[in-house]
Amino acid sequence: MAVDKGRQVRRMEHAAPDGAVLETPLEVLDFHMPAYTCDGNKRAIFVDRDGVLNRFGEMKKPGDVDELMVPGAVESLVSLMKTSRLPVYVVSNQQGCSTEAFAKRARAEMAMDRLAELVVAQGGKFAGVVFCPNKSRQQVPEGTVNAFKPHGGMFLEVALRDGIDLSQSYMIGDSVKDMVSARSAHPEMTTVLVKTGNKGQDEPRPFEPDGFVANIVEASQWVLAREGF
Ligand SMILES: [Mg+2]
Repeated sequence: MAVDKGRQVRRMEHAAPDGAVLETPLEVLDFHMPAYTCDGNKRAIFVDRDGVLNRFGEMKKPGDVDELMVPGAVESLVSLMKTSRLPVYVVSNQQGCSTEAFAKRARAEMAMDRLAELVVAQGGKFAGVVFCPNKSRQQVPEGTVNAFKPHGGMFLEVALRDGIDLSQSYMIGDSVKDMVSARSAHPEMTTVLVKTGNKGQDEPRPFEPDGFVANIVEASQWVLAREGF
């Protein structure tokens, strides 16, 4: 894994149905060095994982990921990717998976790998998978943006690297901190809350999300409708 300051990246490889081998970048991010200037012109869809794509539960082996997936989650994501033609990124807090916590980190990466594999097997592909291993109150270097949601570092990092205009992008999550992190990265990002997982009840809502729907299947449809499909 390439190590950068506050950031580690490796490529996950999976075989697509047509036999091609597709690569998905997996990024572990502690903080973002602030340089986002919103001059990107690509739009994107960000999705939280736990409570949105899967039910809460321990993921010790790939089969656990399959078992915990919300029914229809993978299919609706792939349909969202193919129909909207927008890049889809996972942005996930994985608290306590620091490099020192080897077993926990390995399990977190295994679970992300299996999720990406399920999507590739259905004919889709994430543009990227990002997770933040910080503890919730961990300090980050002065002048940087914490990647741990409710902070916006993961969005800013992806936006800077891939030229994403966050004001024209979407965030789908189950927690108020997903909505807050998106809006802190850019106040005009469109937010969609789902009624699975934390159901938006993890903390008081400082604002109402743009969409509030039953689950990831409806959230995908909501975004597609917004996109005119
Ligand atoms: Mg969540």
